[in-house]
Amino acid sequence: MPQARLPDINTQYIKFTNEAVNSWKSENYEACLGSLFTLNALMPEKYRVVISNQEHKKLTNEQLWNICTKCKHENKHEDIKYYQLMMPYIDSVLTKTQYQEMWRCAECKYENILLKSDMVQDKPKDPSYFRVVPEPPSQKDGIMDRRKYSTKFTLWFWTCLGEIESQMATFRDDNWTKSEPYPDFDYDGAAEAEDS
Ligand SMILES: [Zn+2]
Repeated sequence: MPQARLPDINTQYIKFTNEAVNSWKSENYEACLGSLFTLNALMPEKYRVVISNQEHKKLTNEQLWNICTKCKHENKHEDIKYYQLMMPYIDSVLTKTQYQEMWRCAECKYENILLKSDMVQDKPKDPSYFRVVPEPPSQKDGIMDRRKYSTKFTLWFWTCLGEIESQMATFRDDNWTKSEPYPDFDYDGAAEAEDS
């Protein structure tokens, strides 16, 4: 009975959240990580926070756009193929270079001169919740001093906990009032898998 299971998850959730925060306070970062990973494992796979540097970078990276001088279409910077074109003689005398960097607008095919076309940068839409966090900072023996590591870990910890809490809230919203069972979710199995 899923309705009976949810309070169970709730108890575990509170327990491991406290455990994580207390471990963080006492600077026991390994226990802290263990609690976070257990918390994450309490949720069915589709809600879990993904821990990946690569994915996180992809999501949070600022995107650069080249604006076409002619039609104002925004072209994704990384998709543009640049090529060189010989400059008009008078320009080449002035700039002392023979070639200029060009790019072609995907929309109107106009040939833009890179140095004369505008660019815009857009920031990630909402920095709050991505369901992805970078990997926790690692402490290299003796290289990174304790305080520096603590600061890095603290930042990471609260980001990760925030993501997990946000996912847990979504999970609860999606399932709390539903009466059908969760075919893809076996709480005991998930907990055991994490323990091993
Ligand atoms: Zn254009």
